[in-house]
Amino acid sequence: MGSIQLKGVRKSFGTVDVIPGVDLDIKDGEFVVFVGPSGCGKSTLLRLIAGLEDTTSGSIMIDGKDVVNEAPAQRGLSMVFQSYALYPHMSVRGNIAFGLKMAGMPKDQIDAKVKAAADVLNLTSYLDRKPRELSGGQRQRVAIGRAIVRQPKAFLFDEPLSNLDAALRVQMRQEITRLQRQLATTAIYVTHDQVEAMTMADKIVVLNAGRVEQAGSPLELYDHPANLFVAGFIGSPK
Ligand code: ADP
Ligand code: MG
Repeated sequence: MGSIQLKGVRKSFGTVDVIPGVDLDIKDGEFVVFVGPSGCGKSTLLRLIAGLEDTTSGSIMIDGKDVVNEAPAQRGLSMVFQSYALYPHMSVRGNIAFGLKMAGMPKDQIDAKVKAAADVLNLTSYLDRKPRELSGGQRQRVAIGRAIVRQPKAFLFDEPLSNLDAALRVQMRQEITRLQRQLATTAIYVTHDQVEAMTMADKIVVLNAGRVEQAGSPLELYDHPANLFVAGFIGSPK
């Protein structure tokens, strides 16, 4: 399971209210995209959910339990970083297995999980390669593999494709949505790219200056934008 609720989540850095207050309801298995202009607080909100930043106030519930006082590792979420966050000296197998090894999982269980992840990611024949011997798309798949093997309640993606060229970005978008549907794992995906939001999301959350302007399906936002900001950002003719 992986439902996530935010209630009155606020974050300030010093005197600056970066997130003045966010309420949000994410259902188990939903693909949710946070979209908004650069600096609007997307990464901060994701990091609050991940536990990489402390909330100033408010509550974050995962499957009905408030996790604001839990460390990142206790929350059962997996952050997918950009592909350059791989360990260059380790093989694909080593990179995917790393978190499980750290957690002390027995080797046969690790091997089974790495094999299953490599299967769904089409990485089976690349397990002994080093990251530098892979294409950009393959590297990104390894980064996703690291998250998958931990069987998280939710995947958290922060602009994972921004390093890739345009054609590969389109392909990886499709692969990530296909994979998310196959695994039926909740996903929160941060992007400043409207097209990415419209094509990937079950639910889009439009952020502006740390506030939710509107949350809804791509069609709802396109057909019934709540205000001019949403209309302008999504590109519909309000
Ligand atoms: P986005 O991901 O939407 O581009 P961020 O969440 O990274 O936006 O940043 C939102 C705002 O919070 C920005 O104005 C940024 O400068 C500020 N901010 C982010 N992290 C910190 C920090 N650790 N200390 C101070 N200000 C920060
Ligand atoms: Mg960001």
